[in-house]
Amino acid sequence: MQVLLATANQGKVRELEEMLNGKDINVLSLTDFPDLPDIEENGETFAENAMIKARTAASFTGLVTLADDSGLEVDALQGAPGVYSARYAGLPKDDERNIDKLLAELQGVSEKERTGRFRCCLAIISPDGTEILTEGSVEGLILGHRKGEGGFGYDPVFYLPELNKTMAELSLEEKNILSHRAQAFRKAVPVLTEILKNEN
Ligand code: IMP
Repeated sequence: MQVLLATANQGKVRELEEMLNGKDINVLSLTDFPDLPDIEENGETFAENAMIKARTAASFTGLVTLADDSGLEVDALQGAPGVYSARYAGLPKDDERNIDKLLAELQGVSEKERTGRFRCCLAIISPDGTEILTEGSVEGLILGHRKGEGGFGYDPVFYLPELNKTMAELSLEEKNILSHRAQAFRKAVPVLTEILKNEN
């Protein structure tokens, strides 16, 4: 059985494959469909963007399709960078400039007011019209400086108080257990199993 994860990011594909381990489900990605037109992510929420991507890719391929959208919400910035997380400091996308801008925007904001979360929405669409959303989130604090070498994006400034580490100080295995994306993907496994069972 086949599903499409509407991403070109092979890290995300491997993450979903690991969660589906033992089930007879093959995960395809956008690299398997080079003719699929670019999808404009012009939604105002993570959920809208995930749905836009999943609907477009599902109607193009006819496959059960998943698409995720994620980012960082900072309370002191009224939820920014939010859906603009990847291009917060403008184009081309640049993780380092995004962090610099975030730290500048938070200058003078006290430690206890630097709360935020990574959020992920995952849309699952089946050709029979079923549309399901799963979500995951991780709460943390935005540090005033970078710490740790791993991860990507805002990981070096995202501090997890219970673990006394930033996201960039976690191993890939640790991050793949607790991340917002891992939570949303994990919730998708029973949904997918059910959809694919009903297809046969
Ligand atoms: P995407 O929707 O997964 O492509 O994520 C959009 C943007 O959100 C990324 O370019 C990062 O800036 C940020 N982001 C999403 N997930 C993470 C994460 O796990 N760590 C750090 N930054 C993230």
